[in-house]
Amino acid sequence: MVTTVILGMLCVYLLCFSVMFLLISTRLNGKKMGVEVFALGNLLLGLAYILQLFGGPPDEVLVSVVNHTLTLSAPVVYVLGAMHFFERPTPVLRPLLTLAAGYTVLQLLVQWLLGTEARHAMLAAACASLFLAMTVAVLYGRRTFARDLRVEMLVFAVLIGGICILNAMKFAVILDGGLAAIDMSSGFQKIFYIYMSFLATVLPPCAVWLVLRRLTDELRNLAAHDPLTQLLNRRGLMDALDAYFRSRTAGPVYLLIVDIDHFKRINDTHGHKAGDRVLSHVAAVLKATARQGDLVCRLGGEEFVVIALDTDSAGAQQLAERMRAAIEHNEVAGTGVKQPIRCTATLGASGAFTAAQDFDAFLQQADAALYRGKTQGRNRVEWAGGVERSVQMYGL
Ligand code: GH3
Ligand code: MG
Ligand code: MG
Repeated sequence: MVTTVILGMLCVYLLCFSVMFLLISTRLNGKKMGVEVFALGNLLLGLAYILQLFGGPPDEVLVSVVNHTLTLSAPVVYVLGAMHFFERPTPVLRPLLTLAAGYTVLQLLVQWLLGTEARHAMLAAACASLFLAMTVAVLYGRRTFARDLRVEMLVFAVLIGGICILNAMKFAVILDGGLAAIDMSSGFQKIFYIYMSFLATVLPPCAVWLVLRRLTDELRNLAAHDPLTQLLNRRGLMDALDAYFRSRTAGPVYLLIVDIDHFKRINDTHGHKAGDRVLSHVAAVLKATARQGDLVCRLGGEEFVVIALDTDSAGAQQLAERMRAAIEHNEVAGTGVKQPIRCTATLGASGAFTAAQDFDAFLQQADAALYRGKTQGRNRVEWAGGVERSVQMYGL
């Protein structure tokens, strides 16, 4: 009686969460992160337990064969869903149907050759092996493809490891005591289904949590980057600068404003689309010229900001000049116009500063230097603090 109630609750959980996964997946446009596959997995397992509830004794072969096929298919579907979540999309329907057909035939064969008991033992052994493989894969994922979800993966490994052990025990119990040992009223089945209910309660919210984490990470990423160039936007730059100055090893930083010369003319001559291509090109040149870790941002329009970290005044001057020369000497590719487009940029550079709150003041300083550079002929690097510090090192 107790096991029947637990099993009934388990069906309700699985089917409710199946609907919830489906509803969530309808809200995820494009990238569904495997949620719709998890819905299918829950549905299959829910159906398997409904058959378990209403399908009669374990020796009723046909219903039991379908039940076992569903029971084995569900975790395989969860694995496929997880692969979608970790951006390794694989087809779902064809492998699932192949597995279902293959396992059904195998069951009928075992039933015919060895009997019901062997068929039940085979399911327990298959599930134990599958859950063992899943546990190993999850532990491996902690160190590789899911490094950002280390705690979550450990929780999954423990939960799946538990069901692996229970299935291995079920296999042993069947071999030892036959089908009577897995009667619905047996102590072992009670423990088995209590653990399954626990899993059905805990795992779906865990999966929802993973999806939520990915979504919020993606939102944060979108909010911090410029969609055209994929560089940091001003907000992303401020966050990164804050994080840098919070670290114990933070030193002074130098700020460079990079403004494309006569960009309006490029737009007017070649069109706005070619102008956008020029912006992406300059962004790529800046990113490639900056050192790893330097912050490169599109401030807006055709203005970029580069924050040079862990360097001194001479290093910042060299970086600024390298950037100016790289922009001047690299042709813009893929603009779709016949004649090659080249552009130059003027750079305004600030002195060193040591706190994120100083950003605006030093931006103004660099902007004033940039303005001087524009009036003095463009395609040059101008330093805040006077002409004596300005550098023109063409040909570096
Ligand atoms: P200067 O050498 O003095 O910097 O002149 P400029 O033409 O580069 O500067 P100005 O500020 O006069 O023009 C900037 C132009 O950038 C005007 C604006 O239409 C264009 N612009 C701003 N954002 C975008 C964008 O996202 N895409 C494209 N294609 N053009 C943009
Ligand atoms: Mg400009
Ligand atoms: Mg400008």
